[in-house]
Amino acid sequence: MPASAIRWLVALTVVFACVVLGQSLLGHAEAAARTAPTLAAMLVALATYAWGLYPVAGSLGVSAGALVCLAWAWAVLQMAGLGWALAAFGVLAGTAVWQRRLRDGRLHRLRRTLEELRGQQTVKRQAIALAGQTADALQKKLARYTQLQAIAEALSNLTDLTAIATLAVERAFDLIGKSDVCLLFVVDPDQQELSLFASQRREGMPSIRAKHGDQFDRHVLRSHRPLLVSDTRRDFRFTVAVAREREIGSVIACPLMAGESPAGVLRLDSASAGAYTQDDLRFLDILLDLVATALTNARLFAKTQQLAVTDSLTDLTLRRPFLEQLTRELTRAWRSREPVSVLMLDVDHFKAYNDTFGHTAGDVILRRVADVLRAVVPPGGAIGRYGGEEFVVLLPGLARHQAGEVAEQVRRTVGRQLQGVPREGERRALQAVRTAQPAELEEGVTVSVGLAVFPDDAKVDLELIRIADQRLYQAKHAGRNVVVSS
Ligand code: GH3
Ligand code: MG
Ligand code: MG
Repeated sequence: MPASAIRWLVALTVVFACVVLGQSLLGHAEAAARTAPTLAAMLVALATYAWGLYPVAGSLGVSAGALVCLAWAWAVLQMAGLGWALAAFGVLAGTAVWQRRLRDGRLHRLRRTLEELRGQQTVKRQAIALAGQTADALQKKLARYTQLQAIAEALSNLTDLTAIATLAVERAFDLIGKSDVCLLFVVDPDQQELSLFASQRREGMPSIRAKHGDQFDRHVLRSHRPLLVSDTRRDFRFTVAVAREREIGSVIACPLMAGESPAGVLRLDSASAGAYTQDDLRFLDILLDLVATALTNARLFAKTQQLAVTDSLTDLTLRRPFLEQLTRELTRAWRSREPVSVLMLDVDHFKAYNDTFGHTAGDVILRRVADVLRAVVPPGGAIGRYGGEEFVVLLPGLARHQAGEVAEQVRRTVGRQLQGVPREGERRALQAVRTAQPAELEEGVTVSVGLAVFPDDAKVDLELIRIADQRLYQAKHAGRNVVVSS
């Protein structure tokens, strides 16, 4: 029943009630008594309708009781109005039940829709949470790649091996975090074992005593593969170590590859188990790739630098870097007021040697003279190949007589060691040309030496060289295989 109908019924009931009240006041008590049951029936009908729609506990029972009473009153009093009232009552009650069923149906549908909406809401919430997690992970990855880019840039500016190693250890320790220590071991080629090269520790951690690595580092070195140990006590590959300098719950380590072979191991560890993730391992692996490239570049750079200052035949310093060193040494000697001696050496009759035994045999002689110089020149001295078959020696702190002794020793050693001339490969060549050997080579290979001393002979580098060269020339004139020192 629509709400307007209910309002009309209520209004009708109020009118009836007013009529009954008016009749009673005007003394028509009899008429009032006839109308009263109809009014009562309508009130009960209204109540039944309301209770039918919005039931309260026991309302149906009360309504049924009232209905029975009214039916009984109608049967006994035989009042026509009451009959109509009962009929209306029946219609109202039926309408109420019908409407209630309709409403229940609607409610049921609404509840289902609500549940569906709630279900969708839960799915969406989960999707949002997942998206949030993915966004976080991506953000983290992005941050790490940005960091890797910065590290790559920083590494590309470094050519010093120690600086590269230090940077790698610092960045790995800071960016992976969660670690007690970060250690970089390098393979010692002589000992064929690991040795600690750079390290970083959390504050309060004891200093590292295992300078040659432990079972984890050696495992990485053997397998050439990255290693992640989530819980050292549960990993069957490793024995539980006792009495360590620090607690190790989890470990992450990567090999530092130099081409196909490992050149070292970078490792981090933490006292707590499960400190590291696969993401950390991947990050460390990429970082180590960058470090390996930087180390290769640094080695190439060092080699290029070395080649730029070293003579490839004798491994001695070339003329230009040698002269630079001489200049630095003279500046230092000027302040310390110490002498500096310079020797100029030239192989005697070298052209004849070349002509007789060939250029290759001549090269061997140059290398062997260089070997003699390396063996005889005292520590602190420097040796250069001045050009062709001329050598130059710098002797800081050595006065004339001391430098003269060194020069004599060089001359004697060359004369002694290169007496029979060619060894090995040249022996056959010597056999073939023995008969044709010129007279000047009969003594074997010899050298002539000129000596000049700073500051007595000259105070400027090139002047010192010039005087040494002049004395070498004198030595040649004196018959060769001699030292001219003043
Ligand atoms: P002297 O005793 O007066 O010094 O006579 P010399 O024959 O040694 O002097 P000269 O300067 O005429 O000859 C130097 C020779 O050194 C000429 C050149 O062929 C040779 N020579 C220069 N550089 C090299 C080199 O790198 N390898 C070889 N095998 N020979 C070289
Ligand atoms: Mg010469
Ligand atoms: Mg010569």
